[in-house]
Amino acid sequence: MKLSRTVPIERTTLSAATFERLITNVVHGTWKAGQQIPTERILCQQLGIARNSLREALKAMELIGMLESRVGEGTFVCPRSEFLSRPLLWAFTGTDHAELADLMEARALMEADLAGLAASRATPEELKRIEDTIHAMEHDIAGSEAVLESDMAFHLCVGQAAHNEVLANAAQLLRNLLKYWIHLKLMIGRIPAQALERHREIYQAIRGRNVQASRALMQEHLNETTTLITQLTASMTGSLQSNEKNLRAVTGSDRRRTLARTASKKVKDT
Ligand SMILES: [Zn+2]
Repeated sequence: MKLSRTVPIERTTLSAATFERLITNVVHGTWKAGQQIPTERILCQQLGIARNSLREALKAMELIGMLESRVGEGTFVCPRSEFLSRPLLWAFTGTDHAELADLMEARALMEADLAGLAASRATPEELKRIEDTIHAMEHDIAGSEAVLESDMAFHLCVGQAAHNEVLANAAQLLRNLLKYWIHLKLMIGRIPAQALERHREIYQAIRGRNVQASRALMQEHLNETTTLITQLTASMTGSLQSNEKNLRAVTGSDRRRTLARTASKKVKDT
């Protein structure tokens, strides 16, 4: 794998320039999602910079969710949907959930509008794409596989069928910010099947060109999601406080898995 440009970086604002240069590799697809990036030694040579500057820039890229370093393996490019969502996720794992509530409310309002627009504007091809995500989700559930991607794909396709790129992109950003919570929600046993049923109803309403029903059903679906996520955050706040000491010792991803288990168990129990 090579860098898009290999001219050494000028000494001014070194880390920022390194950061920009490295980002270019991701944005232009020189480094693709899931791929391992070159080693620090090679990057330092190619960019003509010291290891400290490189590390600072790599750290910044990790913080915004572009790269992920895995102990003993190296540094990898994250999927695009992860970009920028990570720092905000951290903000939402705190004890103040007011922003999370705002985020979920904004999402529900936007997606209800998108569903209404999709009911009047979806082309036959777009309807087919929405339907395909339902089949994908059925397939995932039947195979006991994770449904996060097929669930998110449904909402993405409805957004695209609304033919308002600004609104669709805004909703996609909100979904990405909520992705962690949506993921936790979908780990609760009965939820994927329930979400699938809602998707079917919304799809039928969109296909039937029923604007009012499409809006109302999407709003209802996302209200249910809001209720569940609120329950999850409440149970996690409790577990965070009691386990704070232990949690500090484990890595981010381990911590998230631990929380996911605790949270889904607690919601099942309630
Ligand atoms: Zn859904």
